[in-house]
Amino acid sequence: MEEIKMVDLNGQYERIKREVDEAIQKVLDSTAFIKGPDVKAFELALASYLDAGTVISCANGTDALQIAMMALELKPGDEVITTPFTFVATVEVLKLLGLKPVFVDIEPGTFNIDIDKLKIKISSRTKAIVPVHLFGQCANMERLSAFASEYGLYIIEDAAQSLGCNYRFSDASVRKSGTIGTIGCTSFFPSKNLGAFGDGGALFTNNPILAAKLQALVNHGMIQRYHYDYVGVNSRLDTLQAAILNVKLKHLDEYNRARQSAAEFYDNALGELKDITIPSRSKFSDHIFHQYTLRVLGGKRDELKNHLEKSSVPAMIYYPVPLHLQKAYADLGYKIGDFPIAEQACHEVLSLPMHTELSEEQLYFITERIIEFVN
Ligand SMILES: *Cc1c(COP(=O)(O)O)cnc(C)c1O
Repeated sequence: MEEIKMVDLNGQYERIKREVDEAIQKVLDSTAFIKGPDVKAFELALASYLDAGTVISCANGTDALQIAMMALELKPGDEVITTPFTFVATVEVLKLLGLKPVFVDIEPGTFNIDIDKLKIKISSRTKAIVPVHLFGQCANMERLSAFASEYGLYIIEDAAQSLGCNYRFSDASVRKSGTIGTIGCTSFFPSKNLGAFGDGGALFTNNPILAAKLQALVNHGMIQRYHYDYVGVNSRLDTLQAAILNVKLKHLDEYNRARQSAAEFYDNALGELKDITIPSRSKFSDHIFHQYTLRVLGGKRDELKNHLEKSSVPAMIYYPVPLHLQKAYADLGYKIGDFPIAEQACHEVLSLPMHTELSEEQLYFITERIIEFVN
């Protein structure tokens, strides 16, 4: 059996190597390293795949979030609601812009924002909500959208882990994750469901005025060569990355299906085990399993992780410490017990190997090691 990896980028590359190498060589030959034709081509292809008005590429997912906040002209002191159980980037950009992160606890099943706990967090300074579609499954966007229109709030979707995920509204309409709110943000970090061979990110919006502004902001606020209407940033997607992403985008649905079938194997093998909770599925959203995350009950999570590692099965804790208890964010004034569901998740979650190249033999081996641990 081949070595089990948490993420197998090599196996995925091998399958499309010829096509990717040709695309890279073409960029090298053209030397159009910045704003080459592949960048526009990728933005258009992704917009068409997502059925999004406009896609604006940028240098990484963290920048995408920051640029979204800048485009909406959020001002220092404005409050932005999100959860403390996410990757740090979501909150980091708020602090960098002088905005105030206001946390809401998560749902125990989906790990996404608990909308029942949102209302009391709204103040006169609240300007936006950032739902993070964690681990590949959308937050309840229907209720969130209703909420945002009632209170006049922007929604900035953090779709870094959910690119390609479908969300179903109660009227049966279906939208892709990231295209429902005011602005959607995603990341092409190599291990994401659509990964580049380096950093990359993108913003989506259906609003043409915002789209034009985002387009300017990613490129120094420039609207026409050497004419600047905004204070912007330098955050462009390299042509090389765009060329690679153009090849890989054609495979995104197939990649997400491969993750789903690995998840199904895990579900079937682990669904009935004592002290193990398999990921729950939202009624409204597909799950594209950026991560396959168990809860291990009874305080045995770290023990199970060690047990797996002894058999060379990697497993990761996303995330071990919630953001409200991180030193860098201590000035927000939160304490232990403020977000009990997120805190409990940090003690119980364990993500299993998840990528597009897992074989049945490997999945069998992984699940057998878990079964022997609980028995
Ligand atoms: C990866 C990730 C980001 C940041 O993306 P980068 O491209 O690494 O900057 C933001 N939010 C979430 C939830 C992520 O998983």
